[in-house]
Amino acid sequence: MIIRRLPETVVNRIAAGEVIERPASAVKELVENSIDAGARRIEVTVRDGGKSLIMVADDGSGMSRDDLELAIERHATSKLPDYDLSAIASLGFRGEALPSIGAVSRMSITSRAAAADSAWTLALEGGRKSGPAPAGHPAGTRIEVRDLFYATPARLKFLRSERSETQQIADAVNRLAMARPDIAFIFGDETRARIRLEAAEGDLLEGRLERLAGVMGKEFAANAMPVDAERDGIRLSGYAGVPTLNRANAAMQYLFVNGRPVKDRLLIGAVRGAYADFLSRDRHPLVALFLDIEPRAVDVNVHPAKAEVRFRDAGLVRGLIVGALKHALAAAGHRASTTVSAVALGALRSTPGAAPWRGGGGGYGYSPRPMSAGLAEQGAAYQAPLAGALDLPPGARVPTEAEAAAATEEYPLGAARAQLHGTYVVAQTADGFVIVDQHAAHERLVYERMKKALAADGVARQGLLIPEIVELDEAAAQRLVARAGELAELGLVLEGFGPGAVAVREVPAMLGRVDAAALVRDLADELAELGQAFSLKEKLEEVCGTIACHGSVRAGRRLNIDEMNALLREMEATPHSGQCNHGRPTYVELKLSDIEKLFGRR
Ligand code: ADP
Ligand code: MG
Repeated sequence: MIIRRLPETVVNRIAAGEVIERPASAVKELVENSIDAGARRIEVTVRDGGKSLIMVADDGSGMSRDDLELAIERHATSKLPDYDLSAIASLGFRGEALPSIGAVSRMSITSRAAAADSAWTLALEGGRKSGPAPAGHPAGTRIEVRDLFYATPARLKFLRSERSETQQIADAVNRLAMARPDIAFIFGDETRARIRLEAAEGDLLEGRLERLAGVMGKEFAANAMPVDAERDGIRLSGYAGVPTLNRANAAMQYLFVNGRPVKDRLLIGAVRGAYADFLSRDRHPLVALFLDIEPRAVDVNVHPAKAEVRFRDAGLVRGLIVGALKHALAAAGHRASTTVSAVALGALRSTPGAAPWRGGGGGYGYSPRPMSAGLAEQGAAYQAPLAGALDLPPGARVPTEAEAAAATEEYPLGAARAQLHGTYVVAQTADGFVIVDQHAAHERLVYERMKKALAADGVARQGLLIPEIVELDEAAAQRLVARAGELAELGLVLEGFGPGAVAVREVPAMLGRVDAAALVRDLADELAELGQAFSLKEKLEEVCGTIACHGSVRAGRRLNIDEMNALLREMEATPHSGQCNHGRPTYVELKLSDIEKLFGRR
């Protein structure tokens, strides 16, 4: 055995793998450097999704000839003057980006320090340096990276299409831009500008909303509630969308810690918790939250790409986020609610599903529990006002009065009469009426069916004609594959498909036609949130909940009267059907006596 010291160029290529995974990570590092250098304007140009060219130019502090030579040394940085890793105020601090990029590409840096009267240029090609040589350049820095990964062909193979890489670069630029409305960002390929964000003038908070509008869309800005809270010296500010503005995934949830975009499970969980009363589980609100925290209370040095952070007191941060979001939601609810609907909803009874429905005693065995007024008001704000017209599906048959009367006497949940807003089933009962949230109710039913099937002989599966390939990030794919055996018991058969994808072969039969990709992505999120040390059976409720959610009729799907009645009958036959898997009621009941009160008849 011969142990040899690796040449520096090889060491640098290995290190590059940690920091520079793809063109977007190179762009992120370079733009971070420009921000750290105090730039007011940063321009990014790419060709071939960054594979053949990445160019980042800024008007920041620039570098002197000596600085330039140091900047490309490994672990050389100007950002840790006291060598104190526990209080990092800049975006960079590792001193790895420039040497790493230069080790795997043909890179040139041209820079002029603000005070200097001439510029210098220096090149690194596969880690070999040439220069510095005098050059002409205005104050600031311009870095060109050509043929990224030409020196590491294995890495090159893992890159995706030009379109996908370009999109990831745009995401990286957007994320950094969101936190800095005071800096202009321009990103484009050589034919057109894809991002053009002007620097905000004047008030920074207004500037922030405008910047967020530029990145997340005008719709977000128009429907966002300001968030501002402070606890124990930690400040949370930003904007959160009203619940009616929502998406199928959490991609539009952004968290920044001291101006650094971070991907954090904590945020997704906290947002889900705060919106739980307003949104079904498969819908996600849009938020952009900025946390300002003493640098010592957060460790940013946990991940080579600096994408993750660790809070000294994660519970405190989570509490702050949930509290602030709930506060914002409550304030917005108040503003929008009308007195009449608040009173009406205050009279609604939510009925926790007590089984059996028709127990020995003859009574239905449930006790009405009035909804809290606060919740009712908030609820009122987010349901479209009940317009006069009944939203009957085409071809639906309204049962005759006699049929309805018979059903209302016979069944606790009564006879379906209409579907409102494509979401709520209204049924007439013996002494009032019930409103059923069709999605929440159906989700509960699927969940109970799954639990029963598991207890008996496993969940029946249905093979997909063509396996569905779902692209995920590598960690998510690994998490799923590691659980493949357990997931198969739940009816979901999948296997790894390259590093960042899984192939779904079978799905639980009871889900019917299901969007396997969305299901798998949500499950990956769920697994990440749950952590490692448990079996899926122990966490059955969460996991089944996620699966059930995907097999449930969506809010917005039109049901005919027969389907509605089938739903009601199955609810009556199913234990715990009065609340969805997340503890919210699946239906509310309004007694005639309450309605009479509402109209002053009593
Ligand atoms: P880090 O950002 O962690 O310090 P880098 O390798 O990214 O490490 O950069 C090394 C050093 O080069 C930085 O500390 C900074 O002093 C200098 N530098 C890099 N990019 C720029 C730039 N665009 N403008 C001015 N100085 C820069
Ligand atoms: Mg850097």
